[in-house]
Amino acid sequence: MREIASRFLENPDFTKEEFEELLKGWENREERAAFREKAAFLREKYYGKKVFTRGLIEFTNYCKNNCYYCGIQRENRNVERYRLTKEEILECCREGYRLGFRTFVLQGGEDPWFTDDRMVDIISAIKEDHPDCALTLSIGEKSYESYKRFREAGADRYLLRHETADEEHYRNLHPSSMSLSRRKECLFALKELGYQTGAGFMVGSPGQTFACIGEDLVFLKELQPEMVGIGPFIPHHDTVFAKEKAGSVELTLYLLSVVRILLPKVLLPATTALGTMDTQGREKGLLSGANVVMPNLSPLRNRKQYELYDHKICTGEEAAESRSELGKRVEKIGMYLVEERGDAAI
Ligand code: SAH
Repeated sequence: MREIASRFLENPDFTKEEFEELLKGWENREERAAFREKAAFLREKYYGKKVFTRGLIEFTNYCKNNCYYCGIQRENRNVERYRLTKEEILECCREGYRLGFRTFVLQGGEDPWFTDDRMVDIISAIKEDHPDCALTLSIGEKSYESYKRFREAGADRYLLRHETADEEHYRNLHPSSMSLSRRKECLFALKELGYQTGAGFMVGSPGQTFACIGEDLVFLKELQPEMVGIGPFIPHHDTVFAKEKAGSVELTLYLLSVVRILLPKVLLPATTALGTMDTQGREKGLLSGANVVMPNLSPLRNRKQYELYDHKICTGEEAAESRSELGKRVEKIGMYLVEERGDAAI
């Protein structure tokens, strides 16, 4: 093991340059194994063998943005757009509750049809039906005031991946109407408002270097998010990145371990993108330090329409099926799914 790797295990508080140096040796087997072991140890210390589940409800694929990597970007004319009604969303939650989910995640494109008033109405209704559940939003960049209203209406958590903490890389992934500084401002606002906040990034997005990932890790350390979403980039055929290479599963697993070591109490999902790239991806993610899975609760008929990237898994099975299947898979690796809100350890 290199000196820098053992130093990271002792004190992970690295600078961007140190992370960059560390990452250069990520393929070293011994280092990877040591990081995985430490990550699993820390995960177990704070969360035991529990795997938390989040019922993901993809409630709209309309989006006003044009993130170059994303399949549901505004410019993609080949997407058949849909929105769930409030009643449909509530039905997804009821079904999820029956199946044992105690966190619901409302995710969507940035869809202006869902005004703050409409969101507040939906948030309040979900919290009224399920006061024992946590509600997570993942609906992009909003004003401080909007975030405040959603929080007051009962939203507990918010997922907003920063996507990349490197200015230039950010500009290569997004049109000029979007900015990294705005993204960061949103994340700090969410923290201030008391949301359990999730940041994160894709692994292997076009133009990403080890220096970019170094920035990401330093930013995560600064933000101190309660959740971090990390998954491989997967090209979507209707985007300008159609011909780009997908991110590496192995590097994603390595980074899950690194993030667990950096932020020991973090809630870390083994993402659907990881499961898409490798049939055992989610299990490998859990073994590398993750402790959350996010099965799909969206109505079957809409699943394929929420296509952020090609070949996304779990677009064809019932939520019930997928929860029990996942339960079995998780038990095979010595962990178990729980029926809990699964808040961040304090
Ligand atoms: N509109 C919301 C939700 C975005 S979808 C928001 O802006 O936060 C959730 C995440 O999917 C994104 O943050 C992005 O990191 C990821 N994603 C989008 N396109 C992807 C792709 N082609 N491959 C892998 N992940 C992708």
